[in-house]
Amino acid sequence: MPKKLELVNKIEAIVGKPNVLTHGEMFDEFSTSTTKEQTHPCAVIIPNDKNEVFQIVKLFNDANSQNDEKFQLHPISSGKNWGYTCSEAGSDNAFLLYLVNLNIITEYDDTLGTVRIGAGVTQKQLYEFLKEKGLKFWMDATGSSVDCSVLGNSLERGFGHTPAGNHFEFISDFDVVLGNGKAISTGFRQFSDESKRFASEGIYKWGVGPYVDGIFSQSTLGIVTEATLKLIAAPECYLPFFITTQKDTNINVLVDRIRDLRERQIIKSCVHITNLDKSLQAALDESDWPLSKLSLSDEDRKRHTKAYMLNEWTASGALYGSSDEVEVWKKKIKRTFANGEFKVQFISEAKFKWLKRIAPKVSQLSGLKVDKTLDKLNSLMKLKRGEPTNDFLKSVHYKLTQLPSDNDFTKLERNKVGLIWLAPTAPATGKNAEKLVSIVSEVLEEFDVESAISMTVLTSTAIECVISLLYDRRSGSSDHHAESCHNSLVRRLIESGYLTYRLNSLQHRDYDKYYSSTLIESIREIKQTLDPNSVIASGRYGL
Ligand SMILES: Cc1cc2nc3c(=O)[nH]c(=O)nc-3n(C[C@H](O)[C@H](O)[C@H](O)COP(=O)(O)OP(=O)(O)OC[C@H]3O[C@@H](n4cnc5c(N)ncnc54)[C@H](O)[C@@H]3O)c2cc1C
Repeated sequence: MPKKLELVNKIEAIVGKPNVLTHGEMFDEFSTSTTKEQTHPCAVIIPNDKNEVFQIVKLFNDANSQNDEKFQLHPISSGKNWGYTCSEAGSDNAFLLYLVNLNIITEYDDTLGTVRIGAGVTQKQLYEFLKEKGLKFWMDATGSSVDCSVLGNSLERGFGHTPAGNHFEFISDFDVVLGNGKAISTGFRQFSDESKRFASEGIYKWGVGPYVDGIFSQSTLGIVTEATLKLIAAPECYLPFFITTQKDTNINVLVDRIRDLRERQIIKSCVHITNLDKSLQAALDESDWPLSKLSLSDEDRKRHTKAYMLNEWTASGALYGSSDEVEVWKKKIKRTFANGEFKVQFISEAKFKWLKRIAPKVSQLSGLKVDKTLDKLNSLMKLKRGEPTNDFLKSVHYKLTQLPSDNDFTKLERNKVGLIWLAPTAPATGKNAEKLVSIVSEVLEEFDVESAISMTVLTSTAIECVISLLYDRRSGSSDHHAESCHNSLVRRLIESGYLTYRLNSLQHRDYDKYYSSTLIESIREIKQTLDPNSVIASGRYGL
């Protein structure tokens, strides 16, 4: 019997035949990407619990130690790493290990604001759980699907909007299955077992001794099955704000001032800044989408900019604190941007409701799309209070020439959305923001691609810039064109001193071409020790 078939039979004996997929809608979705596919899975394995994950890894480890032909496992928690890797493994001959069933939420502590989540726990599931508990504590949410895994995103070091937006900072005490088949825990949890649990577990990220959680993030060194997540206390008052400017050169001043406000803890949240092209992609109702390979004409661009009340740059964030604190911070922000070139708006929930009430009348009288704009604003405000939403998935369909006939915008791969995200990190200074914009605009113009840029002032020192290459995968050589544009951008950014905080499939593939690192050889040695039989799929982050 061929080795692969033999292995599949053994996997089926562990997880059950229906939980090993080699065809069907889900298999097709996981075999497709939002850019030209680099790898194809052998099968999708859906273990029912942690113990089955452990058994499968052991099975692969034993099989690989006895055979020359090696099979690999690639863990996906929800497999929606759209724009970066989607559900692709880093190499062929890999089985996807889909951890959706590890969806148990336990150990919620409503004093300390900690909760234990399995890899399959989704944003929606956690939000509903916290809602049931009265939202005494908030989670952070990304703009991606409500069905995305909280842990999967955190392990890729994704980010969101609230003061808990820098996700990896908020997880600890992992349970991990290593490629060699050993199950370990990190932090203080390493000392616990079934007969003895330590009160110190889950409350102090660093534990004692070497800190190792980081080696299981953006790596192929282990499969994380569970972790503890620190939530944030629901604030007495939360107030979203929007700072806009009509002058494109103001990005410099905008970033410098926001950095200063973040440094002094007046703004505690991540602040997202978008340029006009990005705002157009996010704000336009699909009835106004170009539905063409071509970009918007100058005339349409101007018309939509006016109708949707958009700006050259828009920064959004929120204030979180007591009412008194928020009042003081609000004044401070207003004063900071009081030179006449910026407009600052604070939109409380109450103000939003009032705006919503008057919107139909105002839209009718002014011809502006106030109601549509408020709908988009509502989606953004949800994220600022940690409530996940699918609303943003629509916007990445913006470049399609044909919209999905069933109006289902959650199936990016099926809908042939072309999406590559490139995420350079830069110092949080106006000068660097300006330089990034100039490099990106120049390269994108060369390739005739709209220059959709967002920058998140993630900390008081770093901006994470996200460049969106959006296209329709159905049209001719579009994958190839997007890839060439992407490669050109990566080269230019690296030459100019900017590295990306998270890699997409194309960068994983070309890792050695782009990067020369003093660390990677040592990490490869660690990989060899923890996974001597190459069970966990390689081809990620140089591993
Ligand atoms: C419209 C839109 C908006 C988006 N907004 C955001 C945003 O605001 N912030 C953001 O960060 N991203 C965003 N994304 C990108 C992406 O969709 C999310 O980051 C998403 O959460 C990642 O996919 P996932 O959670 O399904 O992770 P997965 O695909 O499950 O995992 C990603 C990778 O992490 C590793 N991994 C996953 N689980 C494990 C595990 N248990 N053990 C070890 N390694 C593991 C694997 O290498 C895997 O390939 C957005 C995407 C779209 C289309």
